[in-house]
Amino acid sequence: MSTATRYPTGATQTAQKIGIVGAGQLGRMLALAGYPLGLKFVFLDKSADAPGGQVGAIIPGEFSDAQKLGELAAAVDVLTYDVENVPVEALGDIPRHKLFLPPVAALATGQDRLAEKNLFRELRIPTPKFRTVGSMPELEQAIQEIGYPAVLKTRRLGYDGRGQRLISSPAELGSAFNALGGVPLILEEFIAFEREVSVIGVRNRSGETAFYPIAENLHSDGILRHTIAPCVDKQLQKPAESYARRVMHHFDYAGVLTIEFFVRQGRLIANETAPRVHNSGHWTIEGAVTSQFENHLRGILDLPLGDTSALGYAAMVNFIGELPPPATVLAIAGAHYHDYGKQPRPGRKLGHATLVCKTRKQLLAQLRKLPGAVRT
Ligand code: AMP
Repeated sequence: MSTATRYPTGATQTAQKIGIVGAGQLGRMLALAGYPLGLKFVFLDKSADAPGGQVGAIIPGEFSDAQKLGELAAAVDVLTYDVENVPVEALGDIPRHKLFLPPVAALATGQDRLAEKNLFRELRIPTPKFRTVGSMPELEQAIQEIGYPAVLKTRRLGYDGRGQRLISSPAELGSAFNALGGVPLILEEFIAFEREVSVIGVRNRSGETAFYPIAENLHSDGILRHTIAPCVDKQLQKPAESYARRVMHHFDYAGVLTIEFFVRQGRLIANETAPRVHNSGHWTIEGAVTSQFENHLRGILDLPLGDTSALGYAAMVNFIGELPPPATVLAIAGAHYHDYGKQPRPGRKLGHATLVCKTRKQLLAQLRKLPGAVRT
C-alpha cells in the first residue's frame, strides 16, 4: 500500500521525521516505538541529558522559546509533544504550516482545569461540581455551595498532585488559599471514589478510533503508583469509550488521548484529560498487541491503527525516587524493566516495571513480589 500521497509534506512514509516538544520518558518511549517504523526523532528540551537524548538529538531550549520551537518545526515533518505545559502562544503560526498533533485546541484545554471542566459539561461527561476562585471571598462563597471536604486546585500547571490542597474544615480555608493563591484557582467537590480508572483512546487523521481496555490506577500523594489493566469493572468500558470518542470528535483529534476518571457508586466522573500518551498506558508496551506509543505515532501519521487488545492481565509499577536493581525485578516471571536514565531525586519518576500474566489472580500474586508495588 502506498501511503506517501497522504502526507502533505510529500515525504515518503519512511523518511518521516518527528519533532517532539519535550524529551522526557514519554518522548523516549515514543521514539523507541517509532524506530521499527523507520521514523526519526528530534526533541526540544532545556536539559541536554533528558531521557529523549539517549535515542535522538535534542535541540536545547525552553518550551516557551518561539525561536527554538520554530527551529524544531523546520527540522521535522510532523510535530507532537510529550508534555502538556507547552505555552500555546509560543507556537505562533507553526500549527498552520506544519502538522502539530494532537491539535493545539486540545492542548490548550488540557492546560486549564476550568476549560477542561467546561468541555466535560458541554459534552455531557459527568465531572465533579466546581467553582472558579480568584479571591478569599470567592473561596468562602464557593465552599458554601460545594461543601466540605473540597479540593482547591490551581487552574494551570497542576499535575501529579502538585498545586492542590484538600480543605476539610473552615480552619483550613485561609492556609489553602495562601498556599496556592495569587493565581486563578478552581474549587472542586471531593469525590469519595471507590477507585480511579483511565481510558486511553487513539484516533488517526482519517477519523479511525480505537480504545484500550480501561485501567485501574492507584495514586498516593497525587502521583500514580501502579496501574492494573484491564480493570475489573467491565461495564465501565462502554461509557469510558463514549466519553473519549466525544472529546476526540470535538477536537478532530489525532494521536492518543487519555481521560482519568473517579468511579463512585459504579459510575464514571471525569477528573481530567491528557492530550498525549500517558503513564497509565505504559502497560501497553508489553501488555497489549500494539503499544500506546506506536498507536500515537500511527494516529498522527494517519496510518491504520494497531490492535488495542490486552495480552492477558498487566500491571505497571512506577519507580519513584529510586530504582530497584534490575536483577530483583527481572527474576519475577512476567516482569519487564524500564530505566529512563534519569538522575535520582525524591519524588521523581525514574522508571517502571510491567508484569504480564495470563490471569488476574497470577498477576496479583506476582505483583506482591515487585519492589515499590502498593499492596492490593
Ligand atoms: P489531579 O492532579 O487532578 O490528577 O489529581 C491527582 C490525584 O488527587 C487524583 O488522581 C486523585 O487521587 C486526587 N484528587 C484530585 N481531585 C480530586 C477530587 N475532586 N476528589 C477526590 N480526589 C481527588
